[in-house]
Order: sequence, then C-alpha cells, then structure tokens
Amino acid sequence: SSVFAGIAQAPEDPILGVTVAYNKDPSPVKLNLGVGAYRTEEGKPLVLNVVRHAEQILINNPSRVKEYLPITGLAEFNKLSAKLIFGADSPAIQENRVTTVQCLSGTGSLRVGGEFLARHYHERTIYIPLPTWGNHPKVFTLAGLTVRSYRYYDPTTRGLDFKGLLEDLSSAPSGAIVLLHACAHNPTGVDPTSDQWEQIRQLMRSKSLLPFFDSAYQGFATGSLDKDAQSVRMFVADGGELLMAQSYAKNMGLYGERVGALSIVCGSADVAVRVESQLKLVIRPMYSNPPIHGASIVATILKDSNMFNEWTVELKGMADRIIRMRQQLFDALKTRGTPGDWSHIIKQIGMFTFTGLNSDQVAFMRQEYHIYMTSDGRISMAGLSTRTIPHLADAIHTAVT
Ligand code: PMP
Repeated sequence: SSVFAGIAQAPEDPILGVTVAYNKDPSPVKLNLGVGAYRTEEGKPLVLNVVRHAEQILINNPSRVKEYLPITGLAEFNKLSAKLIFGADSPAIQENRVTTVQCLSGTGSLRVGGEFLARHYHERTIYIPLPTWGNHPKVFTLAGLTVRSYRYYDPTTRGLDFKGLLEDLSSAPSGAIVLLHACAHNPTGVDPTSDQWEQIRQLMRSKSLLPFFDSAYQGFATGSLDKDAQSVRMFVADGGELLMAQSYAKNMGLYGERVGALSIVCGSADVAVRVESQLKLVIRPMYSNPPIHGASIVATILKDSNMFNEWTVELKGMADRIIRMRQQLFDALKTRGTPGDWSHIIKQIGMFTFTGLNSDQVAFMRQEYHIYMTSDGRISMAGLSTRTIPHLADAIHTAVT
C-alpha cells in the first residue's frame, strides 16, 4: 500500500512522448521526426566543433572554479546574449535600458518572465499564437497569467492568417502581453514578412500591447543571426519596452546544457535596475542560481571573434542542410505524383514543416511506416536525411492516396 495509491497515471508530453513511443519501436526503419533536435546526415546528434573547442579552453584553464554563479547568472554571458539578439549597436543597450538574466534555456526564460509579469505588470493576460509551441500555454498559466490566443495560421492557405491576427490583436485589452516567435514559428514554419511585422509593431505600440519575444531559433531560420533577429530589432528601435526569451539549445546545439537568457528592455536605466532586483526575487526561490558550464561555453564563443565566426559557419551549415531536406522532400513527392500542393514544404521556415497531415494520417504513418511525428502533423526537417526521405515520401504518398 502507498499514500500515493490514488494517483492517476498522467499522459505523456505531446512532444517528448513521441520519442518515448519511438524508443519502444523495434523496427529497423523507424524514423523520429517528433522532437526538434538537429541530426546530421547520418542521423546522429551533433556537437559543434566550436563548442568542443570552447570546452577544451575551459577545461585547460587552471583558474576555473565551480563556485555558485550570482542569482542573475554569468555577467559576461548576459551582456553578450543581449548584444547577440539586439545588435552590437543597439541604443537600448548603450543607454543601459536592458536587464538580462541567465535562465534555464528558453523554457526557463519564458517562465521567469511570465512570473515577473504576473507579479508586477498591470495586465495579466497573455495572447499566444494559434497554434504555438505546446508548452507555451502551460508555462504561462503556471506562471500566473491568463492565456488567450490570437489567430495565426490559416490551414486553407497554409500561410499566415494576417487579417485574423490583426483583428484579434486589435480587440485585445490595452496593455495585454503578446507572445511573438522572433523567427521560424513553431510548429507552422510560417513567419510574417517585414512589412507585416511593421504593421504588427504599429498596431501593438498604438494599443500599448507588451511584446514578449520567444527566440529559440536565431540563425536557424535563414542561417544569418542578424536576419533572424530583424523582427525583434524593429521593436527595440522604436524605443518601446519588451521582454525577450533566448535559447541556445538549437543554434549552439546546447540542448541539455539548459542555457538561455531573459532580457527586459525598459524605458529607462533606473527602471531596468529595479526590474532586475525583482527578477532576482523570482529566481532565488525557484532554483537559486543557474548552472555555470553552458553559459561559460557560450561566453567563450561569443567573446572571441574567431570562434564567433567559426560558430556562424557551423550554424549556417545546419540551416542549409535543413533547407536541402525541404527541397528533397518536395522533389520526392513531386516524383511520386502525390496529390496536393506541397509547395509549403519549401516555403516554410526553420526546423519544422507543418505538413497538413491530419491525426489519422499521422497515426497511419506510425502504424505502417514506423515514422513518428506530433499528432498535428509537424515534422522536424532536421531529423531527415537523403537516405530517409524516400521512406517518408512513400509514407506520405500512401497516407494521402
Ligand atoms: N520556444 C519555442 C518556440 C521552442 O520551439 C522551444 C524548443 N522546442 C523553446 C521555446 C524552448 O526550448 P529550450 O527550453 O530547450 O530552450
């Protein structure tokens, strides 16, 4: 007998549970396109050379210690992270209006930002895109915010529902928080154009809607760190305030190191100081202070111009391989004469393709082809290779015909 005997079995996480099911499948042809983790052409996880190099430097440094970091994390890492996303010449940084705290990857940054807003911001409603990364509503609800959604994706065009987006943000209460994917929207792979971003910015600023950017894929979308930060920089350039959650999981391949940052761009330097003092009160009882190793790797790379350049080359290599996989999958379906318009595969941006397959087709492909993806039909392009694309194309072809 147990005092916990009455506890019900909880369902698996809708994304990470795909890997659990995949691991149980004995089939030699099985393919995991569920979780968004980069794989090489050989299907292997990748540790970037520049990351190995940085770790070597850290290990060979005799003065390296394992002391606690401050509550806010590694100061050098925070500075460099703000510079990376906002740009080296960002006026907000020069005017000391930005406070940055190291957090537990993107998820932890979102959670700390959410809890800060729930405690100190006057409007506790956050609007998230429909659809969005499945963890967003849970993170923000548990942080103490009320979660609503705004229209984002139009399944009929497989593109942005721009009209719906503008309508929903127009009718949001003044001051509401709006979660925006900085680039490579997950799960749809659909991003606004620059013109559309500008209209979103104008609308949001005119209604005093507070932007909360989630940047989990900087550099992964186009292969350029600066291009992928363009949307964010538009909102900083107008002098307004915003929150920014950054993750190094994908763009440096540091998934398990849990390294990320929360930045809050404030109206003035003295507000930024007070905001940071309150962020510390959120963090201290949650996990006291963040881990040192991943942040040290990132700082080592970002502060050295040679290593930084080496990183951008490897990052572009990952982005380019994903783009090649898009083209190859598109071509494979065309060769098979698979019914339907599959051009969205090459139009969508970032790690994922939102295939348009329904949950029955997804279940069929798992059953008959041992191909695993989330039930919304999202596939991780980084999990594909030239060798596995024919298998996936056969499966899709059979599923839709
Ligand atoms: N936001 C989005 C949109 C994501 O796709 C992810 C990763 N799947 C994250 C945040 C956070 O990931 P992590 O906590 O691993 O940095």
